[in-house]
Amino acid sequence: MLDLILKNGLVCDPANSIQSILNVGIRNGRIACLTSESFPAAAEIDCAGHIVSPGFVDAHSHEDDLRAGHIEADITLRALRQGVTTLVAGNCGDAPRDLPAYCAAYDGKQPVNMALLAGHTTIRRLCGARNKYAPVDEATLAAMCETLERQLTEGAKGLSMGIRYEPGMTLGEMCAMAAVVKRFGGVLAAHVRGDAFEIYDAIEEFLEIGRRTGVRLQISHIGSMAAYGQMAEVLSYVDRRAAAEGLDVRIDCYPYDAFCTSIGATTYDDGFLDRYHDVTRIELTDGEYKGFIPNMEVFEKARREHPEYLTIAHVMNGAEVDMALTHPRTMLGSDGVLLNGAGHPRAAGAFARFLAQYVFERKLLSLNEGIAKTTCEAATRFGLDRGTLGIGRAADVTVFDPKRLKDKATFAEPALPPEGVRLVLLGGVIALQDGEVLRTDLGKIL
Ligand SMILES: [Zn+2]
Repeated sequence: MLDLILKNGLVCDPANSIQSILNVGIRNGRIACLTSESFPAAAEIDCAGHIVSPGFVDAHSHEDDLRAGHIEADITLRALRQGVTTLVAGNCGDAPRDLPAYCAAYDGKQPVNMALLAGHTTIRRLCGARNKYAPVDEATLAAMCETLERQLTEGAKGLSMGIRYEPGMTLGEMCAMAAVVKRFGGVLAAHVRGDAFEIYDAIEEFLEIGRRTGVRLQISHIGSMAAYGQMAEVLSYVDRRAAAEGLDVRIDCYPYDAFCTSIGATTYDDGFLDRYHDVTRIELTDGEYKGFIPNMEVFEKARREHPEYLTIAHVMNGAEVDMALTHPRTMLGSDGVLLNGAGHPRAAGAFARFLAQYVFERKLLSLNEGIAKTTCEAATRFGLDRGTLGIGRAADVTVFDPKRLKDKATFAEPALPPEGVRLVLLGGVIALQDGEVLRTDLGKIL
């Protein structure tokens, strides 16, 4: 007898080339059968008119902080509400300092699963490097490599770098760390050194790390790096170099034409208006300066007084974001990040927005392509036992109504959950049904 059967939905499982009306049987937390027959089950849910997908896997996200032994479910809860069952977090160089402590506070207490990367900047700080603009000495680098090795042993799936945020990182330092990642078979993800017209050198530097070490590369949130007139050239350059040199490169991107980062970040160091042109298109999400920045004086004052405040910069070209998201190398990554519950709508809306717009409304991608970019591609890349409805696999499942699926989160109200997500299962247990969150404790660190 099955524990649960999801009947009559359009099952879409790109990893197994399945796209047909089937019943999905679940037993002991795993997929037991995909069948056109009906088997007895303790519970059944009719999914007619709905798409039954593997739970979405977010290729690039951030994690809620561990504070005093506790993790507030903020990013993770917004993920669950849009059908994401696994987040790849620890991105842009910033990850938990103590993986075992983070796992202990996470397992069985959070709404979705998480895979973590080690963070280059986090490890730099742990090993005593305080100055983001300065290179590290040999002894510090040796300690960093040792720390990274320990974190990879503790379960990190690779390493993230926030090169933009830590300009003192040299090619030598990055290659030494990348070589450790390569030994463990992990992924090296990077928010590269520059954006807009700086992107060409930044991509070349990142590819050079792959060339020298053979590590698998992941270019983070390419929309916010190259959607200023450079995207076509960058994508074709990556394709050409990867083909010619055997480099293993993937990309992630979120479906918005505005980026989000703290106002104190190096992104806004001297000369940033050469790249983004107009300070009045930058919006603060928090505090007394909340809203669009009227002029440079206010920008500089806010940056001095509250470097931690998040900004939304409405400066990217949407057609270039489309180009990135429809490219075969690209997977969906929300880049969800929040401060005091405020931030960019991508944390609550990226997945619904991507599928609704790119697959169902504008038909830029097939259903199979859209679901692959939101499930198996990231799972495969990061070595996770998720992203497919194969028999015997963990029953993380998302059921949605393709006619109703729509993101509701906006820049004014970034926390609103999407419409159209009918059912989310983690390990065969119902976490969300008809918009109502039933369980928030099913997640674990993968
Ligand atoms: Zn980043």
